[in-house]
Parts: sequence; C-alpha cells; structure tokens
Amino acid sequence: MREEEMALRVDGMKALLTADRTLMSNHRQNEFFGFGATAPPAVVPEWLYKQLFFPPVKTNSGVPVEAPYGLRKVEAQLTNEGFSVLTVDPDHLNRYIDEAEVLGVHVMDPFGLGPASTTFARILRTGETYTAKYFRTLLEKPEVERAKKRGLKVIVGGPGAWQFKCRPRFLEEHGIDCVVEGEAEKIVGKLFRRALNGDELPRFYEVDVKEIPSLEEIPDIKNPSVNGLVEIGRGCVRGCQFCSVTLRPLRWYPYEKIEKELKVNAEAGVRWGILHAEDVLLYGSKDTQPYREKVLKLHKLAKKYYDGVGWSHTSMAAVASGPELLEKVAEIIVDGNQEWWGAEIGIETGSPELARKIMPAKCHPFRAEDWPEVVKTAAGVMSDSNLIPACTLMVGVPQETEEDIIKTIELVDDLRDFESLIVPLFFVPMGMLKDEDWFRAEDMNPLHEELLVKCLRHSLYWTKKIMANLYSKEGLPALFLNFLSRFFVWRVERKARTIMS
Ligand code: SF4
Repeated sequence: MREEEMALRVDGMKALLTADRTLMSNHRQNEFFGFGATAPPAVVPEWLYKQLFFPPVKTNSGVPVEAPYGLRKVEAQLTNEGFSVLTVDPDHLNRYIDEAEVLGVHVMDPFGLGPASTTFARILRTGETYTAKYFRTLLEKPEVERAKKRGLKVIVGGPGAWQFKCRPRFLEEHGIDCVVEGEAEKIVGKLFRRALNGDELPRFYEVDVKEIPSLEEIPDIKNPSVNGLVEIGRGCVRGCQFCSVTLRPLRWYPYEKIEKELKVNAEAGVRWGILHAEDVLLYGSKDTQPYREKVLKLHKLAKKYYDGVGWSHTSMAAVASGPELLEKVAEIIVDGNQEWWGAEIGIETGSPELARKIMPAKCHPFRAEDWPEVVKTAAGVMSDSNLIPACTLMVGVPQETEEDIIKTIELVDDLRDFESLIVPLFFVPMGMLKDEDWFRAEDMNPLHEELLVKCLRHSLYWTKKIMANLYSKEGLPALFLNFLSRFFVWRVERKARTIMS
C-alpha cells in the first residue's frame, strides 16, 4: 500500500485490527513453523527461537504486508460494511491506536491451551507458551492500556476464542470487552457498530448455527494473507468426536472465488501459498471420495498464481483412496520451483478399535478395522508423490486402553521409513467430548512414555533431514539458518534426554 493511500485510510480510522507477534509472522515462509510458537521458552534463547519460528513480518509504515487469513476476512467484511478499518503490526500499534475506537484482536492459542501447547508445556514442565506470552504482552502494551482508559473497546475472535471460557478472569483483568467464537462474517459488523456507538457488548458471543455464513456471505480478502493462505472451503463431513469443526456445514468455494484471493496475494508478490481446508483432497466432494477433475483443476489454478503450493490439511483415507490422484497432483505441484509440499494429517491412533469408537468416518471409504493399513498405504503413496506431512496422534482420549496404545506404538514403528513428522498431542476436550477431562502429564503411564519417545526419535530424525534440505542453499542467510536449525535440533535432543533420564 502506498503512503498516500494509507494516509487516506488512516484519516478518520475507527477500527484497528491486529494479532500478537507469533501470529503476525510468516514463520519463514513455512506455515508449519508456526507450531513452534506453541512451545514454552525452555529449549533455546528467546531471540533465537523468535528468529527461527516467528520473525516479524515485513511492514510498510507499520502496516503488515501479510496478515493472518482470518484477520483479512474480518478486515474485508468490515470494509464491505463501510467501516474505516486498518490492520496493523502489533509492534506499530502506538502509531495508530489514538485514532481507533475499537481494537479487534485475532487469536489462535491465547493461553497455550491448544493440544500442541499443552503437550509441550506439560512434558517440558515449564509455564507460559510463546503464544500465551505474546498475546498477554500485546494487551499489556502501554499504548493499549492508555487507549483503554480513554474508552477503546477490545473485541477478540479467531480459532482460539474457546480458550477464554477457561480463563474468564483474564477478560476483566485485561479489559477485553467481547469474545467472538465461531465464523464471524455475519455478526462482526453488528458488534463493531455497537462498540462504536458506545452500546453494551456481550462478554461472550457464540455464533449460532443460523448465523453461519453461506458461500455468498463470505467476503474475499482484499489484502495479502500470511504465506499466501487461501481458503478453498469450510466444514468437514467426517464427524470425529473430538473435533469442533465437524459441527459446521460443508461449503466448497467455487474456482472464481479462490482465484480472486490467489490474485490478491500474487499481485502483492506473495508467490508461495497454502490451500486451506480440513481435507484439501476432498475439494468439491460432498462425501469422502475425492472428486478427481475438481482437485486437478484446483491445483492447476493455484500453480497459475503461485510458484509453490502447500496444503493445510488432508486425510489418510482420502490419500489412500486415490493413489493415482495424488501422483497427478504431484505432477502439477512439483516442478523447478518446488521439490515437495507439506500438509497436516491426523493419524490419531493406530488402534482399529479406538478408531471405530471415536472417528469411524475418518476411515471412510475404508472400514475402521483397516485403519492401520489405510495409514500405511497412504504413507507409501505420499512418499512416492513427495508429500511430507506433519502427522498428529492423540494421547489420552477418554476411551483409550493399554491395548490401543500398544497398537499405536506398533504403527509408529511401521512408519519408521516414512519421511514425516509424527507429533503426539495430549487430549484436549473439544467437540462432542468437550465435557471430558483434560489429559495431563501426570496421567501418563509407561506405554504413553514409550509412545512419546518413539515419536520424538522419529520426528527428530526426519526434522534434521528436512531442515538440512530447506537450508542447503548457498549464501550467508541460508548458512545462518542452517546453523540455527541444527543448533535448535541439538538443544531439543539434549533437553529430551534430560527429561527422559
Ligand atoms: S477429519 Fe479432521 S476436521 Fe474432520 S471431523 Fe475429523 S478431526 Fe475434524
């Protein structure tokens, strides 16, 4: 954005949007490095950690060149409704906050209560995660406190909004006026208008099913998103008991809508991007079978605008059900610009019995009884197609038995040669299991410990290889990053040995 354009928008600006430092970063152009911020400050010095996992995003007069996708959607919605709105980097709030009457803050993991954070924090036996620390310090900035005193209203929302229910006192202590949980497009304007008019705001606003936006009601982003992330759809049909996404309806964006957002990023110079959906391989499908032509057309479209394309998520079952399709996708994605691509995939368990109880549809079109074989087949297909996933396992689900954990350990053993990360996550009560108890480090039995050690060994082994590849280029910055990444892995190994001895 040019200086004159910005001056026009800042003039009379009423609504300011931001996110904490861990979110207002492109994580070295690798979305999955964002997970690094869910760790507590324990392994390497904070300055080094920040450099590796969440260095500040580029700004233009304090306005970020890229911002989190969710924040861009809110920015677009408010702009469409006629608000004067500006998204600002958290370290440059001071410059603009005196003009603002409402501050909207995007949150992902504001108290470090997400599955990745709780697992890290409990294993490392340390306190506040980076995500929690930087969210807290954002609200404790002198300029924010000063603005609060003169009447600035603070509204927070985003995927981590559920965590405020576990920390209600924080709202009072840090002057948060309203927390929005759910897809906010249809109600965010109403709330910002109330705030600007000085009307009372609800402390918690849970978006009702009737308020979930249809495809036509979801605006297109107007400014670039972090790592060129663009949504291709919302919702999921698999209905896993431990997941909250499943409560939302399935909507796939048409190509034209996706193309508009790809263009916004590409025209701003963002040439690497992520296709975001709960299962990218199911794009355009109403059930659990990939729709071949639609998936291929989607990837050709993405590659028209981006040099490199990655996925947010896919599923083992979708990969295993169409080996030939993944090969075809790889032929489109992998070229002179990119050798591989990543995605996050939930394995969750190696036990067919547990899969049948908590996620029967995650295995479709296969049977839950065949789940470990489905995972192994998918692993082979991904290896052949250069897709390197970050896989997650769930530890301590309420129905889990020792037999289930043994089956999961066996599956991790079988995946030894699969180039991937395997990350165990402690169970966090969500979705249909939201009333169950959290799983704590104290609840771990020797089998859980064995599983965690195996996952750590697997992930460290492959992390070393992946990082060496990522930073193998010549030049000083690459050399520096190579050194930092090796140092980081070495420190994690040392710390892990201390904890496990
Ligand atoms: S497949 Fe993933 S997004 Fe869908 S319900 Fe299961 S955990 Fe949630």
